Amino acid sequence: MRIVRTTAELREHVRDVRASGGTVGLVPTMGALHAGHVSLIDAAVGRTSNTVVSLFVNPRQFGDASDLSAYPRTEEDDAARAQAAGADVLFAPDVDEVYPDGYASEVRVSGPLTERLEGAHRGPEHFHGVTTVVTKLLNMVAPDVAFFGAKDAQQVLVVRRLVRDLDLPVEIVALPTVREADGLALSSRNVRLSADDRARAVAIPRAIEAVVAALAGGEDDAAALLRVAAGPLADAGLAPEYVAIVDPATLAPRTTVDAPSLLALAVPVGPVRLIDNALLSPVTSDAPVPALSGAGWSDHRVPPTPEKG
Ligand code: AMP
Repeated sequence: MRIVRTTAELREHVRDVRASGGTVGLVPTMGALHAGHVSLIDAAVGRTSNTVVSLFVNPRQFGDASDLSAYPRTEEDDAARAQAAGADVLFAPDVDEVYPDGYASEVRVSGPLTERLEGAHRGPEHFHGVTTVVTKLLNMVAPDVAFFGAKDAQQVLVVRRLVRDLDLPVEIVALPTVREADGLALSSRNVRLSADDRARAVAIPRAIEAVVAALAGGEDDAAALLRVAAGPLADAGLAPEYVAIVDPATLAPRTTVDAPSLLALAVPVGPVRLIDNALLSPVTSDAPVPALSGAGWSDHRVPPTPEKG
């Protein structure tokens, strides 16, 4: 696996791949790679002849400077993981390579997709930072296919809208959330949880599971389902920023889960803000699977990590 720092070198590589009839897959990441990222790399390796993993902690999508400075940076380990997963190139540019002196452009998706949920809480600027860097990465790499995680469901919707609206010549593939054996969604931020907070964080998947069980039991009133979600969180002493049940295409709030719906939540746990989501399918619905679902939306659990000791 090659480590590439500049766009010029990357383009040369991609030109060679294309000249020999190959296809290119892109897996954009901010590093601190875990099994969730690896599932995206696996999918890319399976779909395209050449996989580029980008590693760039994008300052423009962090509203909070302390969140940016606390973001884990583990390039050596990331390179080893990406290589083991079969990546061909790790594209790890410096901030100056991506945003050179005098940088003044931005790409925005406007409206509800960037204003609701995460947009309402982190500000739509978060997504403007995401769409700007994703557009740049797509232009730098020019992949045939780019791979994203359903863990960041709203991000998938925003990126799909960006690609459609700007006619970007790339296929976007969304892959299921990879979880720890106890259900906690893998996240680069999990390493910052204390042992106590890690134990409390399991209330997030418990809340999702409780909603899924209540829905399966016939409860389809969104307000009632949100009260069900509140239980495990309150029991763990967690106060969510939001828990919402929304239309998975528009993110508009739903009153009844009579069609596939997205349950999305953001929960601060100690110093870390965690997000998670699940696609809710009503028992009675035969509605077509909505925009969010790609190659399956069901979750996937990794085996427990053996205790050290
Ligand atoms: P990040 O490095 O957090 O920006 O994430 C890079 C990509 O990995 C994004 O498309 C995320 O949605 C995806 N991702 C993060 N966590 C997971 C997970 N637990 N399972 C699957 N994909 C994930």
